[in-house]
Amino acid sequence: MKKWEEKLRQITPYVPGEQPDFPDMIKINTNENPYPPAPGVEKLLKEMDTKKLTLYPNPGAKLLVDELSKQYNIAPERIFVGVGSDDVLGMIFMTCFSSDKPILFPDITYSFYDVWADLFRVPYKRMPLDENFCIKKEDYLGENGGIVLANPNAPTSIAVGLDFIEDIVKNNQDSIVVVDEAYIDFGGESAFPLLEKYENLLVVQTFSKSRSMAGMRIGYAFGSERVISAIYAVRNSYNSYTMNYPSIVCGAEALKDVAYFKECTAKVIATRERMKKELAELGFSFPDSKTNFLFATHESVPAVELFEMLREKRIFVRYFKTPRIDNYLRITIGTDAQMDRVVEVLKEYLEKR
Ligand SMILES: *Cc1c(COP(=O)(O)O)cnc(C)c1O
Repeated sequence: MKKWEEKLRQITPYVPGEQPDFPDMIKINTNENPYPPAPGVEKLLKEMDTKKLTLYPNPGAKLLVDELSKQYNIAPERIFVGVGSDDVLGMIFMTCFSSDKPILFPDITYSFYDVWADLFRVPYKRMPLDENFCIKKEDYLGENGGIVLANPNAPTSIAVGLDFIEDIVKNNQDSIVVVDEAYIDFGGESAFPLLEKYENLLVVQTFSKSRSMAGMRIGYAFGSERVISAIYAVRNSYNSYTMNYPSIVCGAEALKDVAYFKECTAKVIATRERMKKELAELGFSFPDSKTNFLFATHESVPAVELFEMLREKRIFVRYFKTPRIDNYLRITIGTDAQMDRVVEVLKEYLEKR
């Protein structure tokens, strides 16, 4: 190793799901939404004044923040926006976790949490889910440097209720508690109402799943003014202009179309509920998903075998070669037609095997 090489930062990065690009593929591996963004977004992009791109965007992404403020009925000072919730969560880790005590999150959860903890040198402890992949509340009632919970959790798809979250927030008023609600619009119960009572709570959401805009990279957090301003101070010490102009205007536009948003999430939920029945008939079992994916295991065929078989048919699902979950597939809910094809392929394979 050369001398300078010893000075390089060593880190194991987060590995996102692959992004294959075949015209005929069924891509149900990264929990994207199968429906297009709100129609107003397409119109805006087609008519966009590119002269605007010569200027720096508004550093506070005012248009987007004001629309979030209006739609969710919360003061703009209590909203942080970022480049996807990954950026928002990263900034939260940087700002809110500086204790010597470990931050806590489940052993099976969004696999970016331990990467950020390593990157920002935050000590952490991964608390094992129980044998049914449920979060054990008592694990989060001791001393800690902060708490991060995805609700619904990923990749398990399991949601906990508001009382469960409130108990954890109430018993941890000396720490920041982050609830990552990437999938909340597909049937979970948001911790949003608790923001009135607890200054130490942060609720993080994204446009990537329920608003069909993963490619735009928009995420946001709601919290107390004190915490949100601290996160902005850190962000502004790193990069003042994270939100680009197209994301700001398209994000604001998407928020206005409440009817379209409700229609799309309802369609995904309906397809998910139908898929629960169809996959169960094929011998799969899974937790009761409140997300836009199913976390499924088969009674006799190994997950990795099904993963490879589907791949050959250009059906991309997610497989984690990770202890405890290496016999599960994470299957994003696509359109009805896509899911019919998935069922057809699985059925044919299972019958012949
Ligand atoms: C998808 C996802 C995110 C990140 O989404 P962005 O595209 O960065 O907004 C964060 N947390 C969980 C649990 C997710 O599934």
